[in-house]
Amino acid sequence: MSLTRRTVLGTGLALGAAPLHEAVAAGSRQGALPRRVDTVVVGAGISGLVAARELADRGQEVLLLEARDRVGGRVLNHRLRQGGTIESGGAFIGPTQDHIAALAEELGVPTFPEYNEGNSVYISSLTGRIEYSGTVPPDPTILPDAALLLQRIDTMAAEIDVAAPWDHPDAATWDAQTLGEWIRANAINAEGVGNLIEAWTQPGFGADPNELSLLYVLWYVACSGNEQNAGTFARNSDTANGAQERRFVGGSQLIPLRLARRLGDIVTLGAPVRRIVQRDGHVVVHSERGVVRARRVVVAAPPPLVLDIDWFPRLPTRRQQLLRHLDMGQLMKCDAVYEKPFWREAGLNGFGISDSGAARAVFDNSPANGEPGVLLAFVGGSTWRQYGVLPKAARRQAVLEGFAAMFGEQALHPVAYVEHDWTAERWTTGGPVANYAPGTMVQFGSAIRRPFGRVHWAGTETSTYWTGYMDGAVRAGQRAAIEVSER
Ligand SMILES: Cc1cc2nc3c(=O)[nH]c(=O)nc-3n(C[C@H](O)[C@H](O)[C@H](O)COP(=O)(O)OP(=O)(O)OC[C@H]3O[C@@H](n4cnc5c(N)ncnc54)[C@H](O)[C@@H]3O)c2cc1C
Repeated sequence: MSLTRRTVLGTGLALGAAPLHEAVAAGSRQGALPRRVDTVVVGAGISGLVAARELADRGQEVLLLEARDRVGGRVLNHRLRQGGTIESGGAFIGPTQDHIAALAEELGVPTFPEYNEGNSVYISSLTGRIEYSGTVPPDPTILPDAALLLQRIDTMAAEIDVAAPWDHPDAATWDAQTLGEWIRANAINAEGVGNLIEAWTQPGFGADPNELSLLYVLWYVACSGNEQNAGTFARNSDTANGAQERRFVGGSQLIPLRLARRLGDIVTLGAPVRRIVQRDGHVVVHSERGVVRARRVVVAAPPPLVLDIDWFPRLPTRRQQLLRHLDMGQLMKCDAVYEKPFWREAGLNGFGISDSGAARAVFDNSPANGEPGVLLAFVGGSTWRQYGVLPKAARRQAVLEGFAAMFGEQALHPVAYVEHDWTAERWTTGGPVANYAPGTMVQFGSAIRRPFGRVHWAGTETSTYWTGYMDGAVRAGQRAAIEVSER
């Protein structure tokens, strides 16, 4: 069977009501692999699926090899027994994330606004519990620092070329320090404002300010925009007008599931790629489902997993060094399910931040119709290292106590509790993104998109805008496909 444009376009569009298992089965190859194709794509996350689709649309014969028995990678739906779907991985989108928005629209996946009526909750050991509106909590011990530092982050980020952050005149200085060191050097109440910023980095990076290169964080903020709108801290961190503004009706995994269904038997599940050999003007890809010869390969696996592949010839030293210093964040999502979102009746929007405990960053994660009510805690970085290693019952209790401190005693009695630890995922190993340790970006960062012979790189980490996000995954897949077809 020819895996060309005709195959892709012929697989049908109206998949709205398809159950998930049906969509997976329909979108995957059952039989033997073809012996030769034009391009092999490795990894059926959003980025690999987009790359495969773009190449097939250009008339190429494409094969997409995915290690797992499902598509979507870091995007994963969870169906609640109480009804409705929530996301265990990537979920939110917001303004300037035009690429994932366009793809979702094309695939018929609508969005709905993240619930944002009423006040947020802030808890700190100094102020106790405060209800507030807006972006920064009105904590007098941190407000002056927060105003100054967040403004400086935006100003510094605005100077960064998203395609070459290592070229900034201060790149070496910024890359030699962590975000935590910079906060301590520039804040009056470094601990207070550091706690607030940590409640942003733990869900956003799966890491603490002390682990992240300052240059990398500034670049991440610069990437939180598009070609017309400079990235800002607020667009990255906020719900209203920010990256947490909307979610997908039916869950974000509908996007990769529907894309896979369109691709038909281009998609091959249960096919971890173990070895990639380049010789005599072609590439041979060895997977657990068979061996395929191709003109070119697009690798769309998370950076650390690329090192697990046996490469011949060996990866260039610069790329190897880069990958060794790009570490996945540590993150899990812990959701408590309630018959209804009781906090809404109390005038609260379900968003909360705290400087201690298991629930440092909390969102209303209820399905679009608000039934059932769901509270979500991101447990990331050092909070993951403290609570992620506990037995599930102890972690559940700690998370529920965190919810109760924010929203009242009712939070202690959910009808269900669901959690997903991304560090335990063999083919992801952490989340939400692979982070740059200090020194990495300036020394090795320029290798991030550089092709290695006939091998090209996709995946959200290679994007110049919204790197680390679903939007970046789409952009990277499109860019890699253009690279391949231009050669
Ligand atoms: C908890 C969590 C919350 C998040 N929240 C958000 C959010 O709210 N909004 C947002 O935009 N983004 C969010 N993200 C990030 C977003 O999910 C990712 O940026 C995006 O899904 C990455 O897509 P990708 O295709 O680049 O990589 P992945 O989704 O990681 O896909 C890579 C694929 O490669 C496969 N693979 C790996 N090794 C091999 C191999 N050797 N052979 C074959 N296949 C292989 C993997 O199985 C995987 O399917 C979140 C992520 C997590 C984990």
